[in-house]
Order: sequence, then structure tokens, then C-alpha cells
Amino acid sequence: MPARWFICPDGSIHEISACIENCRMGSRCLFLPTLRAIANSENRQIEGFTITELIAGTRETYLKKTVEYAAAPQDRMLALNGSEVHAKFEQNAEDLLSEVRLREEDISGMFDLYGDVLGDGMLTLGDYKVTSSYKGMLALGKYAVEVETKEIFKSGIRKGQPKTRKEWQEDGVRKGIQDWRLQLNGYRVLLEQAGYPVERMIIQMMIRDAGLEVAARRNVDQSVYLLPINRISDQWVKRYFNTKAQRLRDALSEQKLPPICSAKERWQDRKCQRYCDVAGACSHALTLGSKNNTEVA
Ligand code: SF4
Ligand code: SF4
Repeated sequence: MPARWFICPDGSIHEISACIENCRMGSRCLFLPTLRAIANSENRQIEGFTITELIAGTRETYLKKTVEYAAAPQDRMLALNGSEVHAKFEQNAEDLLSEVRLREEDISGMFDLYGDVLGDGMLTLGDYKVTSSYKGMLALGKYAVEVETKEIFKSGIRKGQPKTRKEWQEDGVRKGIQDWRLQLNGYRVLLEQAGYPVERMIIQMMIRDAGLEVAARRNVDQSVYLLPINRISDQWVKRYFNTKAQRLRDALSEQKLPPICSAKERWQDRKCQRYCDVAGACSHALTLGSKNNTEVA
């Protein structure tokens, strides 16, 4: 089901159609065209299950399909900005396949780009992401270690101990991007089943806080990186998506609320407390006292 209410800055909720007609607070919290764009993106309904829906927790997707919920326009801005950037890039992707929805039975996925994306002759599945320098740092496999200098402390409680300095290393072990790996491999399998071979997968990762001190402290010094994504075996990818789809089909046909999302799917509860749209209809979020716990069902 689409979102039905907007959450106003004062925490109260207001029907989206009524908000677009007339702001209950007298002065809008965002420009009207922005609110309209957010309302339109909330209304998009896709038949069956999307790759993104299947990567989310089964309970979360089940609730999104069965209850009406409330969304804060401010929280939708980053996603909306990301889509606008995508749209601008798509306008310049004439000789490549872009934004095509592929379907295998009731599972579908819409990839960003396919073709000789980097101009080196390799058939590449490309994806645009906008993310934080924190996730960027993990994705790039960067981490800091303390290395000893030749000096020692001459006074204080560490007197006699060797001095250290922070040194950044990259060992190629990419962390915190299993959702991206699953997503791109899901699209890859759909593309290859449709007769389009994929030689590699790459994310063009834009760092939204690039240039700020916080990004520099994380040794993330570029605004954009090209991030290669490893191939996962077709068998594993199909089993993962088919299993998640079957759980959803069963839950929807029996109208039975699935078990709570796994710790990973609910980001160790951070998602339930702040970022899950359907927290207001989820008993687990209720027990945590979620910020999004507006009664909506
Ligand atoms: S414009 Fe913003 S403040 Fe006004 S009703 Fe809509 S969501 Fe609430
Ligand atoms: S609140 Fe947490 S457990 Fe409940 S649906 Fe959302 S992510 Fe899943």
C-alpha cells in the first residue's frame, strides 16, 4: 500500500492529499513541487515483488503491502535527490540500456545501466548510489591502524611507551555492502536470463558528505568512487530471492504477520527506532519505543 499520511515537523500526521491541497500549519515545510514529487513517488505501485522489497525484512515488506503508513517528507528528500540525479544521468545514456524493468514470474528489478559503461569494451552492469562517508569508508575497505613511531613518551602516564600514529590501510575487504551485493547480483541474474551477459558489476558511489571534515577524518577524500561488486553464484542468488518471495507469498495468502526482521535486516534495531516506515504497525518497534510509532493501521 502506498503511504497515506505525511508526518509534519510537529509530529502530527496529515493525509497526503489534504496536505497537497492545503497545509494545516499555514506555511509549508517544503516547496509544493517537492511535496508533490514525494507524494507521486510514494504512490508508485509495482506488481509482484521487487528485488529491493525482497532484500528488506519480510515483515517490513509484508506490512508495507498490507497497512497504510505515514512518511516524513524531510526523510524522503535524500531518496528523491538520488532519483533526480539518476534521471539526469539517464538522459545522457543514449547508447546504453538504462532503467529497464526485468521480470521473472512475480520477481522484478529495474537496473540503472547496462552496456559498455566505462568505454573499455566490457559489458558492465552499473548502479548509482549516494551514501555517507561512513558507509563509503567500509565499502572501500579502508581502516585505520596505530603504527609505532621511533619516538617514546618522555613524561606523563605513558612515559617510556612508544608513540604511535594513525595509518590508513585498504585490504580490499569490503564491508557493510551485502545489500548492494544482493541487489546488483539480483539484477545481473535477471539480465543474464533475458540474454544480456554481464562481465562485471560496478557501483558509481557518490559521497554525500564529501568535502566535510567528517569525511576527511575517514580518509574518504573523493566525491565519487567506482566500486566493483563481486559476483555471487547464480544458485545462491536464486535461492535467496526465491526463498524470500515464497515467505511473502505465504504470509500474504494466509494474512499472517511474518516473524520480526532479522537483526541485519533491521540494522540491529536502528531501522525500527528511526527509519522503518511501518514501525507504527510493528509490535517489535512498539517494544523499542520507535520514533516512527505513529498509529496508522
Ligand atoms: S506541508 Fe508539511 S507541515 Fe504542511 S501539512 Fe504537509 S507535511 Fe504538514
Ligand atoms: S520495525 Fe523493525 S522489525 Fe518491524 S518491520 Fe520495521 S524493520 Fe522490521
